Amino acid sequence: MVQMIDVYKAYDNGTKALKGISFELDDGEFAFLVGPSGSGKSTIIKLLTGEIAATEGRVVVNGFDLGQMKMRKMPRMRRTLGVVFQDFRLIEKKTVYENVAFAMRAVGASNREIRKRVPYVLELVGLNVDPKRKPQELSGGEQQRVAIARALVNNPSMIIADEPTGNLDPARSLEIILLLQKINELGTTVLIVTHEKDLVDQFSKRVIAIDQGRLISDGTGGYYTYENIQ
Ligand code: ADP
Repeated sequence: MVQMIDVYKAYDNGTKALKGISFELDDGEFAFLVGPSGSGKSTIIKLLTGEIAATEGRVVVNGFDLGQMKMRKMPRMRRTLGVVFQDFRLIEKKTVYENVAFAMRAVGASNREIRKRVPYVLELVGLNVDPKRKPQELSGGEQQRVAIARALVNNPSMIIADEPTGNLDPARSLEIILLLQKINELGTTVLIVTHEKDLVDQFSKRVIAIDQGRLISDGTGGYYTYENIQ
């Protein structure tokens, strides 16, 4: 679950990126976070992952109050999140299998657990390629499936996807959002940052729209409200 309560963020150079943002995302919810370039979407993501701290207001992620929390607890909070990026961020030298297994090793999983879990998540994300291949030998859509498998492998309660379809063609983009929808139906909370209106409008999902650091609408069923400000 995410709670942002009257959150402000000013960067060191004085840029006011967020000017009083409040919203909640309950466990099991699916939402798109939309807004034009520079509106503050990445700032929200970085606040949720603990990469940066709010200037004012409260940010609570899966029970961790990030403003109050000791830094040493940060890894525990991060383990409740799986993050997916536009540029996939896979390790090029490692195979598909190793890219996913690596995330489990990082949290101390046993080889036995890894051997059981990695094939399961690769199947879950619908990856139909030899897991011995390297990321460069895969299409963009396939690479994003691997990145989603890696984000899921430690069973986070929430997936945050930052422009996950930014490097994909429309058909592949739709498949990736459908996959994230399926993952949500299996119980994981999903927040997707995107500015792709056509894609968002294919789903009747919650859309949180921001502009110039402020929340301008929050409702279900398409990007329509966001359209009004363009
Ligand atoms: P979006 O992800 O919607 O494109 P951002 O959250 O990246 O928006 O940016 C919001 C505002 O904050 C913009 O005006 C941007 O220039 C500014 N900004 C983002 N990161 C920094 C930073 N590290 N230092 C100063 N200003 C920043």
